[in-house]
Amino acid sequence: MKLASVTHKGSCRLAVVLDGGERFGLLDPSHTDLIALIETGAVIDAVQDVVDTVARGDIELLAPIPQPRRNIMCVGKNYSEHAKEFARSGYEAGAVAGKDIDDHPALFSKLPSSVIAPDAAIELHPSITQKVDYEAELAVIIGKGGRGISKEDAYAHIWGYTIVNDVTARDLQKNHKQWFLGKSLDTFAPMGPYVVTADEIDPENTTVQCHVNGELRQNANTRDLIFDIPTLIATLSAGITLQPGDIIATGTPAGVGIGLDPPVFLKSGDTIAVTISGIGTLENRCA
Ligand code: MG
Repeated sequence: MKLASVTHKGSCRLAVVLDGGERFGLLDPSHTDLIALIETGAVIDAVQDVVDTVARGDIELLAPIPQPRRNIMCVGKNYSEHAKEFARSGYEAGAVAGKDIDDHPALFSKLPSSVIAPDAAIELHPSITQKVDYEAELAVIIGKGGRGISKEDAYAHIWGYTIVNDVTARDLQKNHKQWFLGKSLDTFAPMGPYVVTADEIDPENTTVQCHVNGELRQNANTRDLIFDIPTLIATLSAGITLQPGDIIATGTPAGVGIGLDPPVFLKSGDTIAVTISGIGTLENRCA
């Protein structure tokens, strides 16, 4: 099932996505929060739980989890071609010559305050960065929390999936060594448009694409992840208790702006559309 967080007549509602996003089935107003839904383990019945069906024009999409309670956990350099383009670009602080692929996943987090809705504007922060870049990523949503989750059990802890554009200020990412600042500026985590429950998608065989102003820049399949989803969950949960609603962005494939020759950075008016098969298209425009 695909679900969306929306506003309808000024109220936040959860909705079932119908007819490919042409219509939305509003759930009972008692269901306003996707994290609460995940925590309670409630199973939505797309017929019985819908109290009203409205057209796309009657709602505004929010980020599926508009205010994550915790940082968004992320992994860098998780597709080999992207790891190579990043190493070549000169924007990787502490890069080791001849060693593009890490032995351990490069884990970092983005502040939850960086999350924005589909269609919301990405700010380019020109007073502090001139090198803003896009990163199309499949994002895991944790269902059942826990610590010490084994690779074998990892998929049983996943509630569903969504799309995150891991927007990055490359100059800040390099200058400050830690990636946190360059990844966490306001508006740097567009999320959505929908969440898809885990039963509806094969996360090991999903296409990840990104178009900038209609031009295909990224085009890969999650089968090419260096560290697969069970490995990421096992690594993160080894000493951190994962919680329902936690988000793990799984890394971006080759084709980001710093991978181009010469590098191309986002500018005002650019439109970034991230499409993941089985989920949909997350589109945002640069202010
Ligand atoms: Mg990323």
